[in-house]
Amino acid sequence: MAPYRGRFAPSATGPLHLGSIFAALVSYIHAKHHNGEWLIRIDDLDEKRCKAIYSDSILKCLDAFGFKPSEAVRFQTERISDYALALKSLESKSLLYSCDCTRKSLPRGPYPGMCRHRIGQALIEGNAVRIDTNGIDLDIQDLFTPVRRMSPPGDFIIKRRDGLFAYQLACAIDEHIDQITHVIRGIDLLESTPMQCFISKLLGYQSPSYGHFPVLVGADGAKLSKQTFATPVDWDQPGHSFATIARLLLLNDTPSEIDSAEIWLDYFLSLDNFLSIIVKASEANTLSI
Ligand code: GLU
Repeated sequence: MAPYRGRFAPSATGPLHLGSIFAALVSYIHAKHHNGEWLIRIDDLDEKRCKAIYSDSILKCLDAFGFKPSEAVRFQTERISDYALALKSLESKSLLYSCDCTRKSLPRGPYPGMCRHRIGQALIEGNAVRIDTNGIDLDIQDLFTPVRRMSPPGDFIIKRRDGLFAYQLACAIDEHIDQITHVIRGIDLLESTPMQCFISKLLGYQSPSYGHFPVLVGADGAKLSKQTFATPVDWDQPGHSFATIARLLLLNDTPSEIDSAEIWLDYFLSLDNFLSIIVKASEANTLSI
C-alpha cells in the first residue's frame, strides 16, 4: 500500500479563522489515524491577494495549535517553473487555447466556447489560457461524499490573463510533486476536484484519493472565509477555539478551554469515529457559529 501523505493548503489571503482550524484539524486527524505524513502548503500565487504577513501568521498560528508538519512547508510561489513546464506539456498535446473573452462578456455557467477555434494554435501572450475538456470522462470517488462522474465546468482557465497560473493547475501539480495520496478538504472545494483530476490525468499523474467533509458556516449559512473577514482565531488560546469546535461537534467529556493544544489534539485523535461525528453534526445543523 502506498504510504499515506496528506496536506493542509491554506491560501495566504488572511489570518486563519475557526473554519480554517477545523479544516486543518480534519485533515490532520485523518492523516494521523492512517499513520500518515501531513504537510503544509501555502497557496500564495495570487500576488494581489496574498501577503507574506499572512503566510507568517498562518504558520505561527498552525504551530501554536500544535499542527506540526512532517516535512518543510511548501509555497506555491516557489514552483512557478514547475507550473510552466506542465503548461508546456499540455500545450504540446494541443489541448490549450488562448481566450480573450472578458468575464463581463460571458454568460453564467460553462464557457460557451467562443475561442475554441484557437485550439492547437500558438498561445497568445496576454490572453487567458483555457484547456479543452471535450470528451472527458472521469470516474471520481469521494471518501466521504457519494459522488461519481463529476465533470469540469466546461473549458476552464489554467492560466489567467494577468499571467498567474490558476489554482486548479497549480494544485494538481503540487499534489504530484508532494506525492500526496489523500486530499482531505472542505466540501466547498468539491467542484475543483474534477478539474484537478482532469489535469492530473492528462499529465499522466496518479490522482490522490479525495475526501470532502462538511465545513463550518456562519449564521447566514455561508462557509466561513477569509474573504468575508471571518474573525481570526487567537493563537494564544488554542484551547478556546478547540473547545468551540468540540461544542459544535456536540462532544462531551472534552478537555477544557485552558488546556494546551497538545492535550486537545490528543483528545481529538482518541476519537476514532471523527468523520462520522462531523457528518452527524452537519446533519443536525450544529456546524454553524
Ligand atoms: N488554498 C485553497 C483554499 O484555501 C485550496 C485548498 C485545498 O485545495 O485544500 O481554499
